Amino acid sequence: MLSYKNFKEKSVLLKEGKLSLSDNISYFLSKIHESKNINAFNFVFEENAKKIAKEIETKVKNGKAGKLAGLVVAIKDVLSIKDLPTTCSSNMLRNFKSIYTATVVQRLINEDAIIIGKTNCDEFAMGSSNENSAFGRVLNPVNISHVPGGSSGGSAAAVAADLCDISLGTDTGGSIRQPAAFCGVYGLKPTYGLISRYGLTAFASSFDTIGPFAKNIEDIATVLEVISGKDELDSTSVQVGTNNYLENIFQNTKIKIGIAAEYFGEGIDKEIQNKIRNIINKLKDKGFEFIDISLPHSEYNIATYYILTTAEASSNLARYDGTRYGYRSNNNENLSEMYKSSRSEGFGKEVKRRIMLGTYVLSSGYYDAYYRKAQKVRRLIKNDFDDAFRKVDIILTPTSPFVAFKIGEKTNNPLEMYLSDIFTTSANLAGIPGINIPIGNNSNGLPIGMQLLANQFDESKLLQLSYFIQNNLLL
Ligand code: GLN
Repeated sequence: MLSYKNFKEKSVLLKEGKLSLSDNISYFLSKIHESKNINAFNFVFEENAKKIAKEIETKVKNGKAGKLAGLVVAIKDVLSIKDLPTTCSSNMLRNFKSIYTATVVQRLINEDAIIIGKTNCDEFAMGSSNENSAFGRVLNPVNISHVPGGSSGGSAAAVAADLCDISLGTDTGGSIRQPAAFCGVYGLKPTYGLISRYGLTAFASSFDTIGPFAKNIEDIATVLEVISGKDELDSTSVQVGTNNYLENIFQNTKIKIGIAAEYFGEGIDKEIQNKIRNIINKLKDKGFEFIDISLPHSEYNIATYYILTTAEASSNLARYDGTRYGYRSNNNENLSEMYKSSRSEGFGKEVKRRIMLGTYVLSSGYYDAYYRKAQKVRRLIKNDFDDAFRKVDIILTPTSPFVAFKIGEKTNNPLEMYLSDIFTTSANLAGIPGINIPIGNNSNGLPIGMQLLANQFDESKLLQLSYFIQNNLLL
């Protein structure tokens, strides 16, 4: 059992000498070994983590340690760490080693966090169940016959199973929020541009974001402070005025909450609906104002998302052709045969499906009908949110229409799998932040998630309301 409930407490225990960081690392490492069947990690950096823990213990003693001294972090295996593997859970990159370190990881290391390993995920972050991994599927630690969600399934499972303090995942269409909902933890998808993507393997560059999983909002805020902000190495990153996220969560701003009928329609699990209604009623009792809003283009979210992200993916993944890095087929008598065989043998089924879809929507004759049209619809979806955020501060929705499904249940029906993302893709289309809050379990003991969305760069309000809910309605 861990003797602290959040990193702030851990930090105090470390400083007062009441917790040994080496023991803490050993605890996580032994839990990782015990939980091998969950398959949350592609790589565990056992020796290195122990060594760094000793160094940080000395730094703490000498009062020279960074802000995150002793925070034990797992990193999704799509983020680069110099000289270590980055596989994206794909055979294409099984033997690839990173030549530089992602900015997010570097910022954590600079503040003395300890990287314990790299987590399993859907291949190239494409999927909603973590069943599309060349490193094998991940099991949901809450109930191992169910999926952990995806694509950051390993990162969510690692936090839920107590294999680390926090983890990083990525969210292109829901890959942080949905697995957080399935595993019963917090997961933040930040505003596009708030966190540098340098060192993240691109899936759909105008959608990709990086964010933390944690067991509480305090840790989410603490990590966000460290990893957010302008980075010269990512021209889409920006500096926002303040980043005192942790201090801000304790504040009591008046927050207006919007409810969109489009997110409470048919097809949502009854128990999810009831739990969320219950939270809404409690918030009303506490004096929060609720306003009905409309996001009329919501019905196009999934179609627009899958046209645009596959188009971007088909372009981003063109670099894996056996020439410069990654897998090269033995069948390489001539150049075009080498390209073809390397890609056919290196990529998994779902990745190929996306590349084909994306190539199709970008091809001449279809570009206008699909790609250009979808770009226009993306703008309309963003406009809906702009209108809504003129009236409210936060929009409250379910994270997923269903709880964690059984392993294998949706693998033969990609369309059904894509519907997992029905409530999460809009935030990526609009570039706004969203968070999953674990609000309890259903009658089978499976976690239920609620999503809060905020306007661009309004993470402070998002975390404030999340903290209020955590402390007043859930604990
Ligand atoms: N599940 C979605 C997909 O398969 C989202 C993936 C993601 O956010 N990386 O595309």
